[in-house]
Amino acid sequence: MKPAPFVYHRARDVAGAVSLLAELGEDAKYIAGGQSLVAMMNFRLARPAHLVDLTGLRGELSYLREEGGVLRVGALTTHHQVETAPLGPGFAVLRDAMGWIGHLPIRTRGTAGGSLAHGDATAEWCLLAVLLGAEVVVQGPGGRRDVPAEELFLGYYTTTLEPGEMIVEIVFPRPAPHAALTEHAARRGDFATVAAAVDLDAQRVVLGGVAPAPLRVPEAEAVLARGGGFAECAEAAAAAIDPPADGHGSADYRRALTRTLLVRACEEAMLR
Ligand code: FAD
Repeated sequence: MKPAPFVYHRARDVAGAVSLLAELGEDAKYIAGGQSLVAMMNFRLARPAHLVDLTGLRGELSYLREEGGVLRVGALTTHHQVETAPLGPGFAVLRDAMGWIGHLPIRTRGTAGGSLAHGDATAEWCLLAVLLGAEVVVQGPGGRRDVPAEELFLGYYTTTLEPGEMIVEIVFPRPAPHAALTEHAARRGDFATVAAAVDLDAQRVVLGGVAPAPLRVPEAEAVLARGGGFAECAEAAAAAIDPPADGHGSADYRRALTRTLLVRACEEAMLR
């Protein structure tokens, strides 16, 4: 399959990319790692007339900076850079979760910003951003703004990014030494059928694959907050969700996965 014809533009800096996209209008799209967008173009699910390639901004936007308990990740940082970064114990959950994303060639190209902008409800970056209370820094024609990750995802592949806005940085504001993400997929490297992420210190529980966007589960968080057991927490989550049914599994199957995976995530988080 080949994409519909498009005009290729290569951006040199953030300001130039943002103004170019604004100038080109609605038919233009950013492209970063291309690991989601190119597939969509090949299947003609996306037909941008112009692509603004961000890979020339790697010098500016590809970094991991851990300082004073805060981790800043440049939007063009690849999954593989995070997977191989010497992150401290406070952010090891990010490093360990990267291994769940696709296969190595995908991880060496796909980026943090691209993943968040794509907004897949099971994407590891999306779950982790919500779990760890990340702020997503975006730059658009009107300037910069910070979007709390919880306010970024509206539904299936839909975010609150305004037309032309570019994600430039993801800020993880606090260490999470007792956090973990685990998941189940039909085959290694596939997107998760269900993913479960937990931060025991912040008493947060986030699920992927059970709703149109990453889902915090207050009922399960309340169990952790009052010192309840992991099985009780997982049971509360399974009872609270209303998961979809599709070719990957029924709603009951997703509830069963939630029970198993959440206990596993809690145990992994505790043992860190
Ligand atoms: P692109 O594909 O370049 O762009 C995706 C979208 O984001 C486009 O709409 C683009 O316009 C927009 N965009 C890109 N960068 C920015 C930016 N900085 N600001 C604003 N908008 C931007 N992902 C997972 O999370 N988990 C998986 O298990 C997984 N498995 C995969 C398996 C396969 C076989 C493949 C091909 C991909 C898989 N992926 C998975 C997707 C992969 O992680 C992608 O890298 C990621 O979803 C998108 O990042 P990208 O840099 O490639 O973005």
